[in-house]
This record gives sequence, structure tokens and C-alpha cells, in this order.
Amino acid sequence: AAKAGGKNCSRFFSQEMDALLQRRDRLETDLKLALATGEGLNVHFQPQLAADGKVVGAEALFRWTHSEFGDIAAVEAIAIAEECRFIDILAERVLRDAARFARSWPSLSVAVNMSPAQFTGSRDLAAELGRIVSEEGVSPSQIELEITERLLVTDEDDCEKQIASLRNLGFRVALDDFGTGYSSLNYLRRFKVDRLKLDRTFALNAEINESVAIVRAAVGLAHSLGLDVIAEGIETKLQERVAFEAGCDAVQGNFYAAPMTATAFAAFLDSQDSAAA
Ligand code: C2E
Ligand code: MG
Ligand code: MG
Ligand code: MG
Repeated sequence: AAKAGGKNCSRFFSQEMDALLQRRDRLETDLKLALATGEGLNVHFQPQLAADGKVVGAEALFRWTHSEFGDIAAVEAIAIAEECRFIDILAERVLRDAARFARSWPSLSVAVNMSPAQFTGSRDLAAELGRIVSEEGVSPSQIELEITERLLVTDEDDCEKQIASLRNLGFRVALDDFGTGYSSLNYLRRFKVDRLKLDRTFALNAEINESVAIVRAAVGLAHSLGLDVIAEGIETKLQERVAFEAGCDAVQGNFYAAPMTATAFAAFLDSQDSAAA
């Protein structure tokens, strides 16, 4: 019986695999096309707030609605673009949208996620990104580039140089998803960045007493190295309290607002202003 089951299982598995691979091929072709036409593509913005409740920034997040499959998760689309080597085209699109958003909100800093794949090959990434934002009429200082440990473990020497040139040009650099990797603390000493983004697992543990101590320690270390700290994935009042009690400088999460279109963001800012007035 076990044998027969195994056989069925593997046939089922291979049909599933076929379906997955077919979907994958289809998404690859269609994403490439979408990047050429812009159809179904969007960039959403999620507000970042300081302890006084003021909106101080936004994170730009790639969005793709497929004509047949509907919304595709950002991580899936990004992974396809990375593997199929059109991540640079996707990244330029997001950066241009983010820069235009930044131009309409000069008081906000706008964060853009970077893929490790953008750092590969001998290229002057800083010059390329600098040219794009200046074409859109904004200063790099208004743009924060989010990198992850996934990048830092690749080719450390080269990364260190590229991060340094990005910062020399005026871009701010943030370490995203902090706390999910292994040797985070070492990276903090080695790679100079401007901001630490505490992963949402910190927020999720807010109910646990010790977690305040852990967040406080992480924030203390970051501050002693001259870094700002933002907590992401805040969903409840309690998580917000823990973040600010631990000394975080800013927060981001669905408790305040989910990522939204640039137009909806304008309305959100309006409603914040009228709430404050
Ligand atoms: P990330 O950079 O850590 O972005 C934060 C993710 O958490 C976003 O998911 C956001 O929608 C989600 N989020 C925000 N607030 C909450 C909350 O309160 N609770 C929960 N559960 N989630 C929240 P999203 O948009 O699906 O993006 C997933 C990941 O895909 C991002 O994680 C980032 O690594 C990548 N990504 C998104 N856009 C881009 C892009 O333009 N370029 C690159 N290279 N990567 C991107
Ligand atoms: Mg991010
Ligand atoms: Mg993150
Ligand atoms: Mg991430």
C-alpha cells in the first residue's frame, strides 16, 4: 500500500510541479511584458510615523496585478525578476515612481527596497541610481535604500564599497528585516548604514515581557552606533507602545495604514493634518 501510495504521490507531485512551472513561465513572460508597457504595475506607499504621530516618510512597494491571476505577491514577482535578470528594469521603475513621490512630498523621506541582484557585476550602481533620481528632480538625500543581510553575505568587500559610494552620493541606507538573519550585530559594525529596520517578528513578540528588553538592547546598540531605528509591521496599540518604550525613532505598519497608491497617500496625509488641527 505504501508503494502504491508513493507512486500516486509522485505522479500527483509531478502534475503539481508541471502546473507550477507553467505558471512560472507565464508569469515570467507576462512580467517582462508588463515592465515594457507598464500595464498592471503600480507602486504603493506605506507611511512611516515618528513618536509624535507625524508622518515622516514612506516605503515604496512594488505591486503587480496580473490580468488572469490577479495580485501577485511582491516577493514572487521580485524573485522572478531576479532570476530572469530584469530586476534592474523593475528597480528603475520603482525608483522613478518613488522619486516622483518624493518630489511631491519634499518633507518626507522615501524608502526603496534594493535587491542583492542589483549589486552584482562590475558597475557603478551609485552613479546609475544617482542619475535616475536627478532626472526625476530629487536629491538622493530624500531617498533611503533598503538592503538586507541577504546582500551582505554575498560578496562582502564589494558590497562595502558600493554601500559607501551610495552614501557618499547622499543616499541614506537602511538595513531591512533586522533580526531575521544570523550575524546581524557583526554586520552593523562592518557595514555603515543610516538606519535599522527592526523586522516585524519583534513587533509580533511584543506580548512577551523579555521582548521589550531585547528591542531596547537592539535600539541601544543601534543608537550608540549613530543609527536611527524604525519598527516595521506594527499592527496593534500594544506593539506601538513597546516600540516607542524601547526607544524606536519611528514606526510603520498596518496599525497606521496599509501600503496605498500615491493618490490615497495624499488623502491620508490630509486626514492626518485635519486630525492634528
Ligand atoms: P519588506 O521590505 O520587509 O516590506 C514590508 C512588507 O510588510 C510589505 O509586504 C508590506 O506590505 C508588509 N507589511 C506592512 N505592514 C504590515 C503589517 O502591519 N503586518 C504585516 N503582516 N505585514 C505588513 P509586501 O509589499 O508584500 O512586500 C514583501 C517584500 O517584497 C518586501 O518586504 C521586500 O523585501 C520585497 N519588495 C517589495 N517591493 C519591492 C521592490 O520594489 N524591490 C525589491 N527589490 N523588493 C521589493
Ligand atoms: Mg523594506
Ligand atoms: Mg522588512
Ligand atoms: Mg525585505
